[in-house]
Amino acid sequence: MTYRPIVLVVFLMAISGSAFAQDDEPARRPARRTDGPWFGLSLPPAPGKDPAVVVGDRAPRPVPMAPDPQSPELSAAVIRADLTTIVGFSKKSRAEREVGSGQVWGRISGLPSGDHVIDWAADQFRKAGIADVKLQPIKQDANAKFWFPLSWEVKLIGDPAFGAGSSDVVLQSAIPVVPSEIPGGTLTAPLVFVGSGGPAVIDHIDVKGKIAVQLTVPQGHMLFERGAVTSQAQELFKRGAVAVFTLLRLPGNELGRDFSNCGGPCFNIGGRDGLFLESVLNEAARRHVTSGVRAQLSLKTETRTNLSARNAVAVVAGRRADETVIIDAHADAWFDGAGDNADGLSVMLALAKHFAKPQNRPERTLVFIASAGHHSPGINGPRGFIAANPELASKAILMLNIEHVAQRNFSPARSTFEDGYRQAMADSGEAPTYAGVSNSAPYLDGLFEEGVTRFGVNFISSKSDMGSGETGGFTSLKVAKITVIQAPPLYHTTGEVLDVISTPGLERMARFLAYFVEQVARAPREKVNP
Ligand SMILES: [Zn+2]
Repeated sequence: MTYRPIVLVVFLMAISGSAFAQDDEPARRPARRTDGPWFGLSLPPAPGKDPAVVVGDRAPRPVPMAPDPQSPELSAAVIRADLTTIVGFSKKSRAEREVGSGQVWGRISGLPSGDHVIDWAADQFRKAGIADVKLQPIKQDANAKFWFPLSWEVKLIGDPAFGAGSSDVVLQSAIPVVPSEIPGGTLTAPLVFVGSGGPAVIDHIDVKGKIAVQLTVPQGHMLFERGAVTSQAQELFKRGAVAVFTLLRLPGNELGRDFSNCGGPCFNIGGRDGLFLESVLNEAARRHVTSGVRAQLSLKTETRTNLSARNAVAVVAGRRADETVIIDAHADAWFDGAGDNADGLSVMLALAKHFAKPQNRPERTLVFIASAGHHSPGINGPRGFIAANPELASKAILMLNIEHVAQRNFSPARSTFEDGYRQAMADSGEAPTYAGVSNSAPYLDGLFEEGVTRFGVNFISSKSDMGSGETGGFTSLKVAKITVIQAPPLYHTTGEVLDVISTPGLERMARFLAYFVEQVARAPREKVNP
């Protein structure tokens, strides 16, 4: 007799499970029930259940040039194989739970996954026949601290007032923002929605003792929202909020690692979890549910210091050794990081293999860096390179940073998921790519024109002198610094997987950059640095 209630509970769980499974059926009508658990809303899917971006069978547009049988190292298939290997280091980090419970993973400089990808890159340089290959250690800066979220959970607390059978819902795309802490490890509080906020809105909302839920709709990736999201979170804490959720209206239901120092415990929440939460709060308001909606948060963290990482540096001797061209790609990544920066690293390796061949010997000496990157606090690949190689750095006439270069382009689709969230659909090209030329040299900008007209690279139509975080590490080099970079919405999210990388895009970029490097390696110095 005593176990009967347990059987009943299991039975009810099975029933509700099968009810949720109906959400997968394409024939299900979008019109939702108004009764049932959680106001009859569709529960959000687990991250990874649906792709962030729908990538159809139709292939991306091809490279607009005949294949080059002399240069198989620049072919799409070869570069794609390296890309897959690089993403594999992230998959290993995830499978082995390199960080805590395994909710974050990547190729993390300072941890074994970071070393493994750099060691592999050094091996690729050697296999290409390059004799001068070095692994150069980098120590984390003495005062730097690397914050890791070991495990966490964001759970909406079920209540019969939301409909019979409304059991707790874990928002699986939630991820804490650096360096959130919850004293005692857990926190339970009611939620209050402030939307995209601003003083005109939050002046009228009492957030004291509550978890404030703000909404951001990034145009491009999250980087561009850092100022607005962080300053408003800080303001909400000043007004008495005990935690802040930032709903990321991005493709899919992905974990997004971005934003920092928001002034208290902050969590980012992915697109479809965010839609669910917003809909729950709207329904609760519409139906005057006086008990409100509450969430329980838990978080365990760790801060690490005195870490070390390394760069792999390969020197391909040119006909002249008095001047160098530096070619860098960062190897570190959050999550799978297929586009940030496995694509850039695989293209850089293709160039190293290409110029290592005797018949492609460059005029100036080329220095290739598989860099420890810039994601880990106190560890900087470019600065480490300059400190360890003052002579190569002082001979540089140009630095080329290859970073996020072959992600497919996509846009909001005409279709939605069954919960009403807008799908994102890949088209046949690659995402817009910046060609940042720090000194605006007309000769260099002219080469990028050829990148578009001859190689079909989707460079933006305007000239730019932008430099990325990785390029920033080369600030002390007073020569032309080139940044080739995309800024797509999946950056720093779990949605940046192999499927969203364009295979012909890898070859398009590699063949153009091989041309670019060959040209700048022999161009008159005054044209490169006028
Ligand atoms: Zn990057």
